[in-house]
Amino acid sequence: MAAQTVASTTNTVTSPDSANTVDLGPAAALSCRECGHRVPLGPLFACEECFGPLEIAYDFSAYETEDLRKRIEAGPANIWRYAPLLPVPADVAEKPNINPGWTKLVQADNLARELGVTPGKLFVKDDSGNPTHSFKDRVVAQAIEAARAFNFTTLSCSSTGNLAGAVGAAAARAGFRSCVFIPHDLEQGKIVMAAVYGGELVGIEGNYDDVNRFCSELIGDPAGEGWGFVNVNLRPYYAEGSKTLAYEICEQLGWQLPDQLVIPIASGSQLTKIDKGLQELIKLGLVEDKPYKIFGAQAEGCSPVSVAYKAGHDVVRPQKPNTIAKSLAIGNPADGPYVLDIARRTGGAVEDVDDEQVVEAIKLLAQTEGIFAETAGGVTVGVAKKLIENGLLDPTLTTVVLNTGDGLKTLDAVASDTGLTATIRPNLDSFREAGLAS
Ligand SMILES: *Cc1c(COP(=O)(O)O)cnc(C)c1O
Ligand SMILES: [Zn+2]
Repeated sequence: MAAQTVASTTNTVTSPDSANTVDLGPAAALSCRECGHRVPLGPLFACEECFGPLEIAYDFSAYETEDLRKRIEAGPANIWRYAPLLPVPADVAEKPNINPGWTKLVQADNLARELGVTPGKLFVKDDSGNPTHSFKDRVVAQAIEAARAFNFTTLSCSSTGNLAGAVGAAAARAGFRSCVFIPHDLEQGKIVMAAVYGGELVGIEGNYDDVNRFCSELIGDPAGEGWGFVNVNLRPYYAEGSKTLAYEICEQLGWQLPDQLVIPIASGSQLTKIDKGLQELIKLGLVEDKPYKIFGAQAEGCSPVSVAYKAGHDVVRPQKPNTIAKSLAIGNPADGPYVLDIARRTGGAVEDVDDEQVVEAIKLLAQTEGIFAETAGGVTVGVAKKLIENGLLDPTLTTVVLNTGDGLKTLDAVASDTGLTATIRPNLDSFREAGLAS
């Protein structure tokens, strides 16, 4: 593939070596989602014409459908099987990285029975199986290739917890310094999981939106020079990692689109890019073109997109988050308006559940399918249940519900609801007295 030349830019973001040649595979340029203005690949995220978000524009013209399908199927059992569709160099699979993806698509017949879904039609895409136990490994894996291409030496991010861990792990393996920023009051599991990889972990006195604002300030300051913020100045590259969820779901269904997907919303990036991934598969001829519906899921305590959806608004009014679903607690979601577009265009919806319903849903998934989800998974399962009850989700159609994180990171959410059935002395009498005998 032809290498792309990055021209020096007048953008405020400084890359140590922004006039170098970069090879990010099929990625051809950055293009503005709002006005279509194109600029060469670089560590940029906002359009110089209209401040709209920049996205990766690809050149897929050389691909022939059957060849591409065979190439993917012969690839490794991780996200790099889709390297021809991602902004990464062709030899990415040989570089040191944590190789996420190819997580299980679980046919959830027991859960289906509980929810009144036709047997065989309900699936859980279980992304807790990634190296740092959340879907964030997918997006960081893309950002780190961009960081290499732009010669950044420090990896950073603003995080609600999972991203901090994913950046820490990927940086450790790839040999970058990492320094990440989180709200200081996150769950203990998230803090430990982010700190153990040895990078710097900074708690900010404030919520995620304060952390994000601080990071934007740091990017424009000499104090942050040479830093690649995976979800800020590397965001166009980072975001593409979520497409791999769409690719995997379709390939695991035998190269078919599901009819309905239930996807959690924090900033809305994941949902937006899953839609982009599905559209690409259709255009490339890898799946048959048919309608699908995308449903967004939020926690009531942080539901700016759901509130806007229900009110019929196009703009998303920011909220101050207050929910146990901290990984989704972004009160001012950058991609909120695009989520509204996609839910409406595909005939889906955006719905929310309260914290009690989140806990109930975590337990329901665990007790039916043996999958222990973090709070974000409680949100999607809870919302799926609610959407079936209110008739918006068709229980006879193929439905994929995402679980994007591991319950071990949010033990507190269910700790008060679970525990020992009994404590007994080590003898049979005591066992019988406790009423446990068959
Ligand atoms: C980050 C995250 C998401 C989705 O985030 P977006 O900002 O909407 O892309 C979903 N689930 C979990 C567990 C996460 O950590
Ligand atoms: Zn623009």
